[in-house]
Amino acid sequence: MKGQVFRSHGSEYFIRSGDETYRVVARGKMKGKTEILVGDYVEFKSGAIDSVYPRTSRFIRPSVANVEMIAAVLSALPRPDFLMLDKLLVSAEKEGVDVVFVVNKNDLGKEIYEKVRREYAGTGKEIFSVSAETGENLDTLKDRLKGRLAAFAGQSAVGKTSLVNAMFKTSLKVGDLSSIGRGRHTTTYSNIYFFDAWKIVDTPGFAVLESEIGAGELARYYPEFEAHLNECRFRGCTHTGEKGCAIASLAESGEIARERYERYLEIYRQLKEKKKYE
Ligand code: GDP
Ligand code: ZN
Repeated sequence: MKGQVFRSHGSEYFIRSGDETYRVVARGKMKGKTEILVGDYVEFKSGAIDSVYPRTSRFIRPSVANVEMIAAVLSALPRPDFLMLDKLLVSAEKEGVDVVFVVNKNDLGKEIYEKVRREYAGTGKEIFSVSAETGENLDTLKDRLKGRLAAFAGQSAVGKTSLVNAMFKTSLKVGDLSSIGRGRHTTTYSNIYFFDAWKIVDTPGFAVLESEIGAGELARYYPEFEAHLNECRFRGCTHTGEKGCAIASLAESGEIARERYERYLEIYRQLKEKKKYE
């Protein structure tokens, strides 16, 4: 039988296949060889998993497979951390996962929504202005998420749990979708919730879904840079101050959002630093 792992605990895996759930273990031959992650599609029979199907995406922090869509949630309060948001976009782009921006708490004003529209227009992503409090635009957002494994990402307190509760009439506790037990030595488990045609993966303690990325490949994951990457004077331009850099001059003229470019420089620097210490 084929099914999807929706939760794992120690050596036990919980699988959803059709409308049924199964509790299984990994077949002996798989142990220590094949990793089985929440989100994985697996082949199983008589209480044991025999194989894992190829993944469409895979994040390392949290460790989750086959996420198909990320709702990047922002709000007026807490103030958005755009550096964190850009890191999330880079990881999503690398894994080929669809992203939509969800600017929540629009009952508190539209300023952040306008800012996101200005700065991220070049990414081509959809931007929703919603409120978990008033319910505005939640149906449209819900439609967009239908049928695909979706993750809500974003800082603590932007309203991820409230959005899921409002859309699915559930009562997850605050923190169920975010910061449970992210202690230094606590293992965290992702968990998929099924609501009819919807599948939502929680990402305990993770504001961002991370992927393995090198500084040299970073620019490839900026959709608005893409059409211009061949216009730089030097091949192998890192867009961090080289002469004749097309990306830098487009950021200068405002054709590429300047803040996006500045944060690109910062993320590039951080990835370089990380390399040094590894
Ligand atoms: P999470 O940490 O991202 O899951 O955020 P929560 O769902 O726990 O929400 C954090 C706080 O924001 C709670 O006090 C919510 O009541 C509040 N909140 C969530 N959505 C909205 C909204 O649309 N408007 C307003 N005004 N407050 C909201
Ligand atoms: Zn360049």
